[in-house]
Amino acid sequence: MAELITERIRRHATELRLHGIAEDPDEPIERAEAERLGYREFLDLVLESEVGVLEGRRYQARLKMAGLPHHKTLDEFDVSFQPELDPKRLAELRTLRFVERKVGCLILGPPGVGKSHISVGLAMEALARGYLVRYTTLDDLVRGPRQADALSKLSNKPAQLQRPHLLIIDEAGYVPLEHADANRVFQVVNRRYTRGSTIVTSNKTVSEWADTFGDEALAAAILDRLLHDAEVLAINGPSYRLKGRLEALRQATDRPEPAE
Ligand code: ADP
Ligand code: MG
Repeated sequence: MAELITERIRRHATELRLHGIAEDPDEPIERAEAERLGYREFLDLVLESEVGVLEGRRYQARLKMAGLPHHKTLDEFDVSFQPELDPKRLAELRTLRFVERKVGCLILGPPGVGKSHISVGLAMEALARGYLVRYTTLDDLVRGPRQADALSKLSNKPAQLQRPHLLIIDEAGYVPLEHADANRVFQVVNRRYTRGSTIVTSNKTVSEWADTFGDEALAAAILDRLLHDAEVLAINGPSYRLKGRLEALRQATDRPEPAE
């Protein structure tokens, strides 16, 4: 009898997409029995855990859609490694007020200082808070998924770039853009203007970066939209990427030569 009921609970839970109960209908029952829960508490427990399961699935879906290159968090970022970086500035960005305000955020600095790490860390924070996020490098943005790995890459259709609350355009300013590509950047930035927040990272200064757009008027239009009210985080400091290598080198040179 109990087995028949359990089977029916499983079926109905599946129909209602109550994934937690569908997977293990006995778990809440056993817990209710062990803790001697009343009917009201039991119903509360079941619904609460279903909401938890649903939120977890939604988070996983958002995380996948974001297309992040890795999942490093801001807790993994060692602020003390960049003495010129004001921890308060980073903490302010971490509140995600700029996402709420739908303004831009520029992260500038030489290679290896953690621009991508910070932008991904902010993305992880935004995802946890329920925002939709999308990551792309500027190169992928303008050239779109290459034929060869089109299947493995997320598509870069305009709608997909417009919908997220936070769009990250990583590695801007590396190579000069052709007019059509610069125009595509303008289209994306213009559509998102006042509608969503965009983080841009670059190892160039803003004016050097503007030069890569070729066309001055287009560059001005892009920067105008992107920089309006934007947060700017400039990281001038040592490369973390080189840190490990330099230490290894130092150890290697400090070590006395093994005797022949
Ligand atoms: P950038 O995008 O500025 O070139 P990355 O964000 O790719 O630099 O950083 C290079 C590597 O060093 C990454 O693995 C990143 O996680 C790590 N990294 C950089 N800065 C820090 C830091 N301050 N604390 C911890 N890891 C860091
Ligand atoms: Mg980077």
